[in-house]
Amino acid sequence: MTKPSIYGLTYEQLTDWLTDRGQQRFRVDQVWNWLYKKRVATFRDMRNVNKQTIELLEENFVLHTTEEEMKQESKDGTIKYLFKLADGNLIETVLMRFNYGLSVCVTTQVGCNIGCSFCASGLLRKSRDLSSGEIVEQIMNVQKDLDEKGAGERVSHIVVMGIGEPFDNFTNLMDFLYVVNDDRGLNIGARHITVSTSGLAHKIYEFADTGIQVNLAISIHAPNNELRTSIMKINKAFPIEKLMKAVDYYLEKTNRRITYEYIMLKDVNDHEEEAIQLAKLLEDHRHLAYVNLIPYNTVDEHSYYQRSDSETIQAFFETLKGKGIHCGVRWENGADIDAACGQLRSKQMKKKNVV
Ligand code: SAH
Ligand code: SF4
Repeated sequence: MTKPSIYGLTYEQLTDWLTDRGQQRFRVDQVWNWLYKKRVATFRDMRNVNKQTIELLEENFVLHTTEEEMKQESKDGTIKYLFKLADGNLIETVLMRFNYGLSVCVTTQVGCNIGCSFCASGLLRKSRDLSSGEIVEQIMNVQKDLDEKGAGERVSHIVVMGIGEPFDNFTNLMDFLYVVNDDRGLNIGARHITVSTSGLAHKIYEFADTGIQVNLAISIHAPNNELRTSIMKINKAFPIEKLMKAVDYYLEKTNRRITYEYIMLKDVNDHEEEAIQLAKLLEDHRHLAYVNLIPYNTVDEHSYYQRSDSETIQAFFETLKGKGIHCGVRWENGADIDAACGQLRSKQMKKKNVV
């Protein structure tokens, strides 16, 4: 069996692991510093760490279990990586450049079981969850790639919006968040991290209870159950009322603003009527709501769905705004390199005749 990545351990887990094996406490800080601040390529590069500790680490862990299979760079600076996992599965990670910093979109599962009808990721059923190490590695791989360029660039933001449903892999997601947020290491601010869920209501309670200051985004995509169920079958298990109850709990507990993602699907959910319904749904807590309108990226296998045209998107935006809802339109990055979720992976898999 391949050894796990050391990046999967939170600071506390690494502390327990090392001290349980008779290592002194200060070694933890040394190792953590080499991993996340100096970002070594091998355990042997940890120069002030004693031989015995290095051997112990080498016997039980590796740094990277994933390798770069492919990389595409877009004209706007977006970089899309395809990583190969130890078991041969492929996952994708995207680096996007914004005026506020560099944001990385990470994948949390191989495939996705939620099966939203418009999404490329859902075409492949989940074959497994990613380990926390495999999620952290995505950030480390990208950061090390930036380090090599020598321009001192740093990943400053993370969106958990790649393939998979993060709340269906909750423990590993949380460990990942604790690692990247740790101020002794990568120190990526919780407020700079966003987790997107398709609406697993019971996990929204659990997420609120962790007390973590990470932002929450909910893929709402439709303002009523009939329409939502027709495009997201998860709405049967967690209909809008259940979801909004979980939202109430989250808001009460955290007082943090929630982003509602709304994909603009031509003639499906983009009428004025739906904008009015959406505004109504959110009106009670509109001071803690932000609607992100996402122009749909067409997926070959879902040709039934098309992107709403820009006038319709603009009109939808104006209606929401007119009703006092904070909102914006997410114009895409990396349009020339299949930067929408699951698209590069699904194309590569097809080329390899995997699907
Ligand atoms: N599973 C989680 C997170 C990953 S998807 C979720 O669904 O929230 C991240 C966002 O991208 C979701 O809002 C999802 O609905 C959206 N998305 C999926 N396919 C898309 C496509 N082809 N074009 C635009 N957005 C898409
Ligand atoms: Fe899964 Fe999110 Fe795609 Fe739905 S939109 S199938 S939850 S990745």
